[in-house]
Amino acid sequence: MEQGPILSPHILIFPAPGQGHVNSLLKLAELLCLAGFKITFINFQNIHERLVRHTDVEARFSKYYGFQFKTIPGCEAEDPRPADWVRKLFQEMEVKSKPIFKKMVIESNPAVNYIIGDGVMGFVYDVAVEVGIPTIQMHCISACSFWTFFSIPDVVAAHQLPIKGKEDMDRLITEVPGMERFLRCRDLPGGFCQVSHISDPNLFVITKEIRQSQALIINTFEELEGPILSQIRIRYPKIYTIGPLHNHLKTKLRSIEKQESYSSSTSLWEVDRTCITWLDNQPSQSVLYVSFGSITIMTRQQLMEFWHGLVNSKKKFLWVIRPECVINQDGDNLGEIPEQLQEGEKEKGYIVKWAPQEEVLAHKAIGGFLTHCGWNSTLESIVAGVPMICWPYFADQQVNGRFVTEVWKLGLDMNDVCDRGVVEKMVNDLMVDKREEFVKSTARMAELARKSVSEGGSSSSCLNRLIEDIRLMNMKAHGSDTYKDNLS
Ligand code: UDP
Repeated sequence: MEQGPILSPHILIFPAPGQGHVNSLLKLAELLCLAGFKITFINFQNIHERLVRHTDVEARFSKYYGFQFKTIPGCEAEDPRPADWVRKLFQEMEVKSKPIFKKMVIESNPAVNYIIGDGVMGFVYDVAVEVGIPTIQMHCISACSFWTFFSIPDVVAAHQLPIKGKEDMDRLITEVPGMERFLRCRDLPGGFCQVSHISDPNLFVITKEIRQSQALIINTFEELEGPILSQIRIRYPKIYTIGPLHNHLKTKLRSIEKQESYSSSTSLWEVDRTCITWLDNQPSQSVLYVSFGSITIMTRQQLMEFWHGLVNSKKKFLWVIRPECVINQDGDNLGEIPEQLQEGEKEKGYIVKWAPQEEVLAHKAIGGFLTHCGWNSTLESIVAGVPMICWPYFADQQVNGRFVTEVWKLGLDMNDVCDRGVVEKMVNDLMVDKREEFVKSTARMAELARKSVSEGGSSSSCLNRLIEDIRLMNMKAHGSDTYKDNLS
């Protein structure tokens, strides 16, 4: 696949230390490998160790010429509240990771020609600018949540924050262009922007990682987020929408390798595949899949409300419960899944600590998804045509949940109420009573997603444009004749 030193630029890709970010950027890395680029993929050490322990990524990527993994020491920030943890993590990165990363870039051999940094790690962009290497921010979140974070200074300037108590949660926020008619206080990013004081240290944590630039990459597709993308284009004239990335990669690999089924895990946890065997024995569209992603923490009480709601709904469910995701009243980790859940109602529910989610969502037995609306989960559900019940937890998830339910009409919103009665009703609405309306909207969106990554589709064309632009930029930097030939 090597195309010579000038046509084959060396690209450095660096994701934030989270499952969703590593997933998206590894997929982008593989797509760029397929285009013949040399990729160095940088991971935080602790993340990389888990990735290698639970997947075959090293073997899989070794087939790409010039691909290498590199690691950078992990950060040690800790806090039981995710938004506080993120704030501390970013502070630590700025102090500790930035200088190490800069040295790595300067000393890189072969020299780095282009840097794709995670949109939530502004320091990567800053280093690239400092050392004079072309760079772009890649946003692993939705366009709608990116745009909300971007617009927060205007929301504050218009005095639409802070939020004045629970009764203020349904007030409309009118300063995010394109969302004036439906974005409520409760839809602002949880943990960061739903503040009761403007001086809250978390308010601008994500916003200040966003850099002003000509271009950016977003893991979304035009047909899903067109109106919001039009708003973003006023500030960022060049946007490469190349999602849904997981489906894009699958489609490309299928067309190249002529493989019907392609599965590639990038999990940081050990995947329990027994749930696929369990699903194989369930009737079509009869099972609700329940997963709150890799970061969500819930109290034992919330867990039990979900449990009773699910059992009372009398629908079958497959539930992912990471043992570290449940805390007791003192905020301490429960460590183990309560026995009651493991023992009771076995014939109705199946619980695993980590599932092969993409495969689960694509399984014919799945009829709905109770989700925290993480962006990867949302896109995976959209591609699989599975309707959602939204229980957003923090960050971008609240905005995603609002778009899923109010704009795209792909599911139901729990409106933050974690109560067994609400869970039971939502499950029955989604799986039975309102099933018809969701079957149509989810099938339509799944088809649009599929088309966008197919040859000639919007995301496929954007990826080609990105590849071409990187090549041209590289040739220009080398002042090559090939570049001049290309222009003439
Ligand atoms: N995931 C998985 N198995 C699980 C739960 C989640 O493979 O049991 C994957 C899921 O497919 C998704 C990612 O983990 O790609 C979670 O990312 P998302 O953006 O949805 O949420 P986050 O974990 O960042 O909150």
